[in-house]
Amino acid sequence: MHDHDPNCLFCRIIKGEIPSRKVYEDDEVFAFHDIHPGAPIHFLMVPKKHIPSMAQVQADDAALLGRMMVLAPRLAAEQGCNPYPDGGFRLVVNTGTEGGQEVHHLHIHVMGGPRPWLKG
Ligand code: 5GP
Ligand code: ZN
Repeated sequence: MHDHDPNCLFCRIIKGEIPSRKVYEDDEVFAFHDIHPGAPIHFLMVPKKHIPSMAQVQADDAALLGRMMVLAPRLAAEQGCNPYPDGGFRLVVNTGTEGGQEVHHLHIHVMGGPRPWLKG
């Protein structure tokens, strides 16, 4: 149904071939806790479609990416991030080697909770 790369770690997590602690799922989006959290709350939001990174995003991905951005604050609150402005959260999309990307399936890091965090 979705573009799927059998060698991709996050495609395999989406399919349930590799276990994860699920945060959210719908037809287009999957979210799960990061295995090495850098903050008290740290989960990843991924499109089910295999897009390697932000560098490959196309115009027809705009609605999907928009939906993910609208979903992020809702999931952040559900996962326990404190309310804006004293609370809040950080969204990070590492892109490419120099951008710090290690897993080549587009993902949004959602991090929050009381500081200090491991990842600044
Ligand atoms: P990147 O460095 O590509 O932006 O982030 C990849 C993230 O995926 C890292 O924060 C890393 O901890 C997380 N990660 C890597 N492998 C796994 C895994 O098997 N399961 C989960 N839940 N997270 C993973
Ligand atoms: Zn993938």
